[in-house]
Amino acid sequence: MTIGIVGAGQLGRMLVLAGRPLGLQFRLLDPARDACAGELAGQIVAAYDDPGALGQLAAQCEVITFEFENVPATAVDRLSHDRPVYPSPRALEIAQDRFNEKTLFGRLGIATPRFAKIDSEAELRTAVAGMGLPAVLKTRRLGYDGKGQFVLREEADIEKACWTLGDADLILESFVPFEREVSLVATRRANGETVFYPLTENTHRNGILHLSIPRAGDPLQAEAEHCVGRLLEELDYVGTLAFEFFVHEGQLLANEIAPRVHNSGHWTIEGAVTSQFENHLRAILDWPLGCTDPLCPAAMVNFVGELPPAEAVLAIPGARLHDYGKAPRTGRKVGHATLLASSEAELATRLSDLLALVPETGRGA
Ligand code: AMP
Repeated sequence: MTIGIVGAGQLGRMLVLAGRPLGLQFRLLDPARDACAGELAGQIVAAYDDPGALGQLAAQCEVITFEFENVPATAVDRLSHDRPVYPSPRALEIAQDRFNEKTLFGRLGIATPRFAKIDSEAELRTAVAGMGLPAVLKTRRLGYDGKGQFVLREEADIEKACWTLGDADLILESFVPFEREVSLVATRRANGETVFYPLTENTHRNGILHLSIPRAGDPLQAEAEHCVGRLLEELDYVGTLAFEFFVHEGQLLANEIAPRVHNSGHWTIEGAVTSQFENHLRAILDWPLGCTDPLCPAAMVNFVGELPPAEAVLAIPGARLHDYGKAPRTGRKVGHATLLASSEAELATRLSDLLALVPETGRGA
């Protein structure tokens, strides 16, 4: 069985690594000649919307998935004529537009921060007058890792924000002074079978995920599962999805979804009975899903910009290092480590040793 993956970055790489023990083969499409999954599976080097390359990918595999959500809709449409594509083009389309996404959450009864569609500076001024400041102005499409965002703190920021982001195809959101950010990773199969991982607490640095800690037994787990379950059903979703929330005054407020495996689920590779990557593959192949129980206290730390010395990471008991094989570059995710421990206290000690290896600023910022 050969699976096609649109995108050959680290998520594609981890999907390939999860699929190999199951006897799966992979074919990748990515325009970057040095894409990091390319050294593990055959890669077609071409633009995502290259009709010849899409035809070639479809001809060489039985099922197709993608590892990032900004795949052009035309490419997914083209592929879905020839092969099953999971998650569905509709799920991808919803996740590609922050306004449509939040509108759907509202329709499903899932609470969100206040938001408004912005297509001119005048609309922005009206929305700010209604919502108050601070507020966050975001591009509706193509934002990731905090890019395409501007925090408005005072009236004078409006002009600067429009100058930076343009003044159309935007969404304004009320600024949430959250206590924590959490995500729920879930996997659904076509017959409706759905599994959920423990709610994971996430800390960002400069808009990029820095630290994820699964919180088994979190009091908000049931409510998060209810929200995510409704969305998965509505989208008739197949595959793994991550749903990111703010926790404000003890309540969940929906931020966004990623219709794919997600950075906040990397700890599941070693920390859960079945990883998010394996469950994604099982779902798109319509195979039974695996148990999502955590095995022990765990935490995941991202390496951004450059990797710490491997020896220093591996000297920490319970540390598992993932080097994506990417060249160092400011702001680029080049690897991560997952820590396992036998108690929360032990995890805290190991985590402080690991965090001491990650620079606060500079290349790793
Ligand atoms: P996003 O790309 O929407 O996930 O935003 C990246 C990060 O910016 C989030 O993880 C939050 O830390 C922060 N952020 C985004 N939207 C808001 C908001 N409405 N209120 C407060 N912080 C936000």
